[in-house]
Amino acid sequence: MRFRFAPSPTGNLHIGSARTALFNWVLARHYQGNFILRIEDTDQERSNAAFEANILSGLRWLNLNWDEGPDKGGDCAPYRQSERHAQGIYGQATQTLLEAGRAYRCFCTSKELEAERKEDELNKRPPGYKGRCALLSQAVIEQNLREKKPHTIRFKMMPGQLVINDLIRGAVHFETELISDFVILKGDGWPTFHLAVVLDDALMGITHVVRGEDHLPNTPKQMQLCQALGYALPHYAHLPMILGPDRSKLSKRHGATAVDEYREAGFLPETLVNFMSLLGWSHPEEKEILDVQEVIENISFERIKKAGAIFDVQKCRWMNHQYMIHQEPLRLLDRVRPHIGDRRFEQLQPDQQLHLLKLLSEGAHTLQDFNHGWIWAVEAPVLDATKIPVLPDQAARILASAHARFAAADTKTFASHELTHRLLDEINTGLDLGKGSGKSKGLVMKMLRYRITGELQGPALADVILILGRDESLKRISV
Ligand code: GLU
Repeated sequence: MRFRFAPSPTGNLHIGSARTALFNWVLARHYQGNFILRIEDTDQERSNAAFEANILSGLRWLNLNWDEGPDKGGDCAPYRQSERHAQGIYGQATQTLLEAGRAYRCFCTSKELEAERKEDELNKRPPGYKGRCALLSQAVIEQNLREKKPHTIRFKMMPGQLVINDLIRGAVHFETELISDFVILKGDGWPTFHLAVVLDDALMGITHVVRGEDHLPNTPKQMQLCQALGYALPHYAHLPMILGPDRSKLSKRHGATAVDEYREAGFLPETLVNFMSLLGWSHPEEKEILDVQEVIENISFERIKKAGAIFDVQKCRWMNHQYMIHQEPLRLLDRVRPHIGDRRFEQLQPDQQLHLLKLLSEGAHTLQDFNHGWIWAVEAPVLDATKIPVLPDQAARILASAHARFAAADTKTFASHELTHRLLDEINTGLDLGKGSGKSKGLVMKMLRYRITGELQGPALADVILILGRDESLKRISV
């Protein structure tokens, strides 16, 4: 079984395309088939090498390796349509279709086509080419060719019923009479997407065309084209659309849609793979956190859904949090490092870094979230007196008591969470702020936190103190 991902390099790798790539890749691995990467750059105006590079690097980051592709070659090379065009593949196929009477030259100018479109609109007719040039006599065609009149080549659709036996959607019926003859070769000799896709899928032995539902209207055209070229039809499967929370097609206005944006924001590739695998598919036991191996084992066309899949970025963030907290700490540390802008992080001892990491991961949803919330660990805060959470005399008493107890405690106390915690409790019990113990403890903690970190909220104070150690903590609560 041969699957393929066939992106057009006209933009950066989009979540929707990445999901298509993932499903093809997972299916190929499940069936022990091949996964082929083909670059569809026949739209020369909109395609560029930077987009192609972005797509490849995005796929690599997601670990979706391909068996054949533009950078690695394979039996069906080249894998870039511009290179295939240079070999004359598309021109030859067009010639065959012309000779067989399944294609014809269309000399209509864009002005004429535009006028036809307007007329359709006016008369409330379905838009589309009405086949005028199909009726040209051989003499007129030859005259036009002698005059070097610009022209395209159109494929002649056969009217009738057509059924796609879609592996996800079941039988989808089309009335091909409603589909107008479409261009397969443009005026400049380049193929259109339809011709290039059909021919390459056939020549590359693709058995399964798995792509987004937005391609469903193209499929009847491509099926007739495939048959006219004398090739066996591949199986088709159209993946459900990805929708924003308002159920409209996922777009920029719903937030980030490029894979890169997620990468830069500090999502792990395994999160994205897991998350995307659930966009239109579910595990038989409805498991949500799945590694890619479990997806490979359990994927089947039957379980891929027809209905649109809602893209819920909050779920993606939750998932990323799960992946981060279950990550081996040293590995997580390695992955967090590039996201930390402040180089002073590197001045911390390895155990301090690890402790900090654990502490911050409780509230972190992305790797980027480790970029803040720890400055207290490398520098004493500049205190903002307006933040002092208690009355001045209370402040003085809290600091005096804490200082005395910190100074009296041995260094072992500052190496154990439990003992540090107890020390903080003792400071509170030893004080009478006239508030009842619960409330007074809150005030004591707030005051100490304020002095030690400059903030009124943050991670557990005992952890903060453990990370700073005794001397630094003592320094910060001195008056
Ligand atoms: N190149 C097409 C696209 O990027 C995909 C063609 C296909 O999957 O058949 O939308």
